[in-house]
Amino acid sequence: TLAATEMNGKELSQTIREELKSEVLQLKENGIIPHLTVIIVGDDPASRSYVRGKEKASKETGISSDIIELPSSTTEKNLLEKIEELNNDETVHGILVQLPLPDHINEQEVIESISPTKDVDGFHPINVGKMMTGNSTFLPCTPYGILTMLKAYDVSIEGKHAVIVGRSNIVGKPVGQLLLNENATVTYCHSRTKNLTDFTKEADILILAMGRPNSIHGEHVKDGAVIVDVGINRMADGSLTGDADFPSVAEKASHITPVPRGVGPMTITMLLKNTIMATKGMPAVGK
Ligand code: NDP
Repeated sequence: TLAATEMNGKELSQTIREELKSEVLQLKENGIIPHLTVIIVGDDPASRSYVRGKEKASKETGISSDIIELPSSTTEKNLLEKIEELNNDETVHGILVQLPLPDHINEQEVIESISPTKDVDGFHPINVGKMMTGNSTFLPCTPYGILTMLKAYDVSIEGKHAVIVGRSNIVGKPVGQLLLNENATVTYCHSRTKNLTDFTKEADILILAMGRPNSIHGEHVKDGAVIVDVGINRMADGSLTGDADFPSVAEKASHITPVPRGVGPMTITMLLKNTIMATKGMPAVGK
């Protein structure tokens, strides 16, 4: 039997998206149509499916959106020119370049070319810096979704030991920063961490963002821990699974996110939220 409360990102997303819909309606009543442009370079099937998911969710929320599909042979110069055009287009409020990019394109150059005021992914160094210093800005969607979910399920964060497994710029690092901003005590683990499970066992809040299927088991977590499983791993039979062994971990946890229907839908919901925020204009903090 499942002891843990399942934190259902799909349900929570539906509730939040209803609220966002009415914000969009209000904007439209004032003649403003929020618009998100997504750029995808190349034909990676996973990236394509993420992009389609983002567009579908945008439309369902009333946000207008378009996808610019560029061939994998696109030069960096071409891509930067396209972004510059969108930066200067007043009808475009949010710009998202789907990562990863082909090897011949410098990802960091591209991220830095997006206007920080349209950076709905929250990856621009200016926005990363604002997040780090606790200023209002676009928060990266997956960490923002995780935080929103923990708050919605009344998980207390202050003073808790949050252990983050994974330190990527898009998930691990920023989620640790957001939890620190909420007064958690934060430990980061990664592939060079020795005796990983010594740390996972100490976690009050355990964030798994490794991309290693079923690698954390019930015996590796504390009784009553809150488990957020960010991992999305496609198995040989086509099914999706997280980084946790769900059945054994759920027996010990107080809260756990399923995969799918956990963090994934929250990520897209926060993208919609950021796009609406970009449309309304971010409060200028030090520009
Ligand atoms: P990355 O591959 O960029 O990062 C993985 C991190 O896990 C790295 O920091 C790596 O350490 C660490 N790691 C790998 N193996 C181990 C190990 N055996 N022990 C400890 N640490 C390890 O992935 P992302 O951060 O982009 O994504 C992580 C997972 O989350 C993936 O499954 C991805 O599909 C999923 N994801 C889900 C999203 C959602 O919306 N639900 C959104 C984004 C990602 P090191 O730095 O030392 O290499």
